[in-house]
Amino acid sequence: MGVTASQPIYTVEDIPGKGKGLIATKDIAKGTRIISEKPIVSISHSAGDIEQLHLSMHQQVNSLREAEKREFLSMTNIYPHENSTEDWFGIVRTNALPMGPNLDAGGVFLHACRINHACDSNATNFWNENINQLTIHAIRDIRRGEEITISYLSSLRNRRARQDELRQNFKFTCSCRLCSLPPDQSRDNDAKLDRIHEIDRIIEQGGIEALVSAPRRMLGYVEEQIQLWRDMSPNEVGLGRAYPDAFQIAIANGDVARARIFAEKVVALYLTTLGDDSPDVSQYKALFRDPASHEYYGMSMRWKTSMEEIPLELHPQVFEDWLWMRREESPEGRLTDLRDLATFPSFSDLPDQSHCESDYFDCSDVATRRPARHWCFLAEIQDVLGFSPLHVVVKDVNGVVLPLLVYTGPTGDQFSASKIRRGYTLAILYAVRHTTIFRKPWIHLKKPKMVKRPADLSLITGQVAELK
Ligand SMILES: [Zn+2]
Repeated sequence: MGVTASQPIYTVEDIPGKGKGLIATKDIAKGTRIISEKPIVSISHSAGDIEQLHLSMHQQVNSLREAEKREFLSMTNIYPHENSTEDWFGIVRTNALPMGPNLDAGGVFLHACRINHACDSNATNFWNENINQLTIHAIRDIRRGEEITISYLSSLRNRRARQDELRQNFKFTCSCRLCSLPPDQSRDNDAKLDRIHEIDRIIEQGGIEALVSAPRRMLGYVEEQIQLWRDMSPNEVGLGRAYPDAFQIAIANGDVARARIFAEKVVALYLTTLGDDSPDVSQYKALFRDPASHEYYGMSMRWKTSMEEIPLELHPQVFEDWLWMRREESPEGRLTDLRDLATFPSFSDLPDQSHCESDYFDCSDVATRRPARHWCFLAEIQDVLGFSPLHVVVKDVNGVVLPLLVYTGPTGDQFSASKIRRGYTLAILYAVRHTTIFRKPWIHLKKPKMVKRPADLSLITGQVAELK
């Protein structure tokens, strides 16, 4: 478990306005295991009805040693109560920390439950299934005399969402450093947290399907999340999901080289927050040794690499460019590689109408966004269904066949039957993807001249065919 405190490195003290709390009695290095302990009382949500819960809790409290029972009864209860059973149950509800195989139980811990909350906490709690104990790890260096804090929040959201959650569940108003930022900084922070949360939602909604249908976009989202986080915090320990997400994207597309690097980053992160005896560290150490053992390996082999392809001795910045598949700025006149999926994205990798993706645009406002670079959607026409608007069935670079509407507004009749034919290639610069659950996907063209008709593209047509 790395560095473990051999003797208590904190004291329990009265903290003005917060009841009891833990104060560091010496400097504590990031990654140190501050506490590892078993619960004195635990209840499981799946244990049965409320009467069974009360009974189980009664038995546990009554079998505590006198000193433990005194400690238990001195803990805060924020719930109204009329008898000792309700009081004890209120103490458990107020203080319990998540535990158990699926975190579906709550435990009262003599030491860990004395730790107060901070939204930007300096420590984190984790139920370690291997040792059946709750651990508290320092997630940044803590100075002697500093209060040790953990977060009671389900996830780190904007200030208002945090305050609402804490008031509703714990009946207090948080005044941590993050909640006390000056208005300007607080707004800036909230915007970043909102975007991080939005990306979490996009990745979650995309699910396994998006890992292979739009991996480049998904990887771009993860990278954006990490950069937003770095702007706010000097360490990455608040980003428990980003590197595992990046690992899944890489390995689902056969990219063993990048997956191994992402697994290594997960191990480093989890060693700090969970310790090397945690199941999660063992899991990612095994994935670091053999990334292809992951169940998603081979869903697509679009980015196929081997471990030997991890670049060595690169400048850190160049290595990061490789890792995140950042585009190279090609000199003027250099031939474009048609297999470059950043420049010639598939339909699902096109930027979405409702977002302003930094991979494509240079501002954050959808209404005024401008392309930050060049990209072109290429697709082979499989069938022509109509001309006003242009309605075709196309096959994109991934071989995905989809019906497509190309709107050109009042000038939509510019397409003629001789130029739009089966087997020809449609090429649309700066294409933006519109999709709703009610309609077919479509691309909206403001300037019809952006459409290069097949006559201009016989060469490209031939090369695109090779991509399939
Ligand atoms: Zn706070």
